[in-house]
Amino acid sequence: MVEPDWMKEVRALVGKEYGHVHAWDPVNAPMARQWCEMMGVTNPVYTDPEFAAASVHGGLVAPPAMLQSWCEPGLHMNNYPPGSTDENPYEALKLIEAQGFPAVVAVNSELEFARYLRMGERLYYTTRLDAVGEQKTTALGTGYFVTLVMSYFAQKDDAPDEKVGQLLFRVFKFRPAERPKAEEAPPEATKPAIRRPAPGISDDTRFFWDGVREGKLLIQRCSGCGRLRHPPGPVCPHCHSFEWDTVQASGRGTVYSFVVMHYPEVPPFEHPNPIGLIELEEGTRLVAQLVGLNPEEVRIGQPVQVEFNCVDGELVLPQFRPVAH
Ligand code: ZN
Repeated sequence: MVEPDWMKEVRALVGKEYGHVHAWDPVNAPMARQWCEMMGVTNPVYTDPEFAAASVHGGLVAPPAMLQSWCEPGLHMNNYPPGSTDENPYEALKLIEAQGFPAVVAVNSELEFARYLRMGERLYYTTRLDAVGEQKTTALGTGYFVTLVMSYFAQKDDAPDEKVGQLLFRVFKFRPAERPKAEEAPPEATKPAIRRPAPGISDDTRFFWDGVREGKLLIQRCSGCGRLRHPPGPVCPHCHSFEWDTVQASGRGTVYSFVVMHYPEVPPFEHPNPIGLIELEEGTRLVAQLVGLNPEEVRIGQPVQVEFNCVDGELVLPQFRPVAH
């Protein structure tokens, strides 16, 4: 394919050498020891002077894989020692980026070592823009493979500097592929509020919820034996009568038992969420949310009083609030 004009500027940079980036510190035993500790490297030739002295090296050497780390800027970006270049070896990437290829991903990193490094050696590296590929389209998108080669040298006072290794670093500078648009999530404000789950209402329990809507707490009463029962059911468990009516509870009771839900935090409920098993003064028990109290302070035997609260504008629920004795 025919290259766009702007690529000429990029191609002109291929082969360019960028100047020295120096190491802050000479190759040293503390850094090597800490690196070995972090990486789980236990070879004593890197950390034990006596062992190293008796080895083929005749003294401590640095782990070869540390090569790149000696010339790193440290905590702050691009903070290189005095004498280092201020040229930007990534200028080709900037030019490509300006043409609409904003994304970057590293694809290759190849370290080569010429020899072991000894303590006290001073390193620097130079960078060469090695290659810029033809435009390619990958699964990630369309762009250019850009290859940089950093050459590492040991500085000599009485001889030419010696190349000790190199790092090839290749990136793909690209325009991300269009993805099929996921159905866009509605903005927060237009999302329907999460509603409170409504109770399942059956023919057996309808009277209870009808009562709640009218502000009455009704208890089912057997017409055969007169016993009260809750939860509601079609048959009296004592005399097996199907006949029943209701009585209106006073709404006073005590906390018979309780649980405070901390997790999972399921919306729309607030957490911690105290839920009580309330024993009504008529003798039946029901489960309901506790309100108007600190969840930490719920106590068994706590006197409570029912109240009827409307949630989501339509659902009325019986809830219980602490009252004084
Ligand atoms: Zn009965």
